[in-house]
Amino acid sequence: MTINEKLDLTLEPGGSLRDFLPRKKRDPRLRLRVATTATIKDVAESAGIPHTEIKGVERNGREVFADDAVKQGDVLRLYPYTVFDTGVEPLHFAVDCNVAKCVKYLRMLGFSVYFENDIADGKLARVAAEQERIVLTRDKRLLMRKIIARGRYVRAVRAEEQLKELVAFFNLKEHMRPFTRCMVCDTPLREAEKAAVLDRLPPKVAAGYEEFKYCDKCDKVYWKGTHFKRMFALLKRL
Ligand SMILES: [Zn+2]
Repeated sequence: MTINEKLDLTLEPGGSLRDFLPRKKRDPRLRLRVATTATIKDVAESAGIPHTEIKGVERNGREVFADDAVKQGDVLRLYPYTVFDTGVEPLHFAVDCNVAKCVKYLRMLGFSVYFENDIADGKLARVAAEQERIVLTRDKRLLMRKIIARGRYVRAVRAEEQLKELVAFFNLKEHMRPFTRCMVCDTPLREAEKAAVLDRLPPKVAAGYEEFKYCDKCDKVYWKGTHFKRMFALLKRL
């Protein structure tokens, strides 16, 4: 065989992996002609499915790896993640601009989030790989970058729906540590004595709150005020 030869196979994306197929092609059986040098992962991505979305693969009914090479006549069934593998702890994220509205909520819940406005895909991918962060994006091309080991294509477009999706998929209510991280800069907050921050508090806050946290980097005092209460009201609704 030369490297220019092609082989024929059938790809069967299961469940939510079909979200990546063009609407008119949401046939669960795709018959494809591919290069003999392709891996299963390559074939899935050529059909629009990022490797980060694939939990498992069966070839002709037997479990194989997504990095395995394809063979003539393969019937490849792809299985999606339905919930995140919680073997990864702690949950640290790298968030793309199209999911930006979730950044402050995730930090408020205590999850570390790497985020920069207008960041180039290459840099986001590199930081995620170096810092072992889970990429959250609505850009499936970004998730197809090889160096990204873990990521999630966020289906929802609206911020509240996105958060709802993330809470369910990553089981965030179980892993959250609210009020531990600065929602502006991601730095872990430290305890602050009321007496030490008293002169910086609005009178109503000084009268109504006893617990305070402080961000060294932003020089900002936190208390469980309106933002925090709104966040928890939102979480209860999700
Ligand atoms: Zn800060």
